[in-house]
Amino acid sequence: MVETGSGPGAATLRRHLVWPDEAATATSAARLAACPAVRNAFIALQGDLGAGKTTLVRHLLRALGVSGSIKSPTYAVVEPHEVNGPQGPLSIWHFDFYRFDDPREWEDAGFRDLFASPGLKLAEWPDKAAGVLPPADLTIALDADPDDSRRVTLTAHSPAGTALLEAA
Ligand code: ADP
Ligand code: MG
Repeated sequence: MVETGSGPGAATLRRHLVWPDEAATATSAARLAACPAVRNAFIALQGDLGAGKTTLVRHLLRALGVSGSIKSPTYAVVEPHEVNGPQGPLSIWHFDFYRFDDPREWEDAGFRDLFASPGLKLAEWPDKAAGVLPPADLTIALDADPDDSRRVTLTAHSPAGTALLEAA
């Protein structure tokens, strides 16, 4: 289902999906990876602990060609990845703001520069850095059901986000 938002000037687009199992999550991740817009985008991932944010990121990174172990950035806040894909080199930054509580770290750690660089930025717990994060191109909100299925709400905030929303 696709809805078009009607706020002033805000061409937000929303799409609802259900991922019945982790394989469905992986399939959508592969579709996102195949979308050219993924090469310069900020995707914010919302959802409770265990909702599947890191799982989605791992499938996306694998689909983009990241090999080896994929660490969760919870303690480091950001894990950088570099891939050399068919369309050339791609920088990816995987953020987890769960323990982010000092906005000075935003400047000190150079996050402003990372977000201004071309590449893919993925952020778990974006709400914990709401005062400093730039607006996302695409927000993916995950909701776990007891049967392992995930209810997924995609909201696009830019043309890149719209391309990703349509690809997922
Ligand atoms: P978060 O990063 O949101 O806290 P994780 O991705 O670390 O969550 O954990 C989600 C857990 O749920 C993983 O153990 C994953 O294997 C499991 N899981 C079960 N079904 C799904 C699904 N449909 N999509 C994503 N993860 C799923
Ligand atoms: Mg996580």
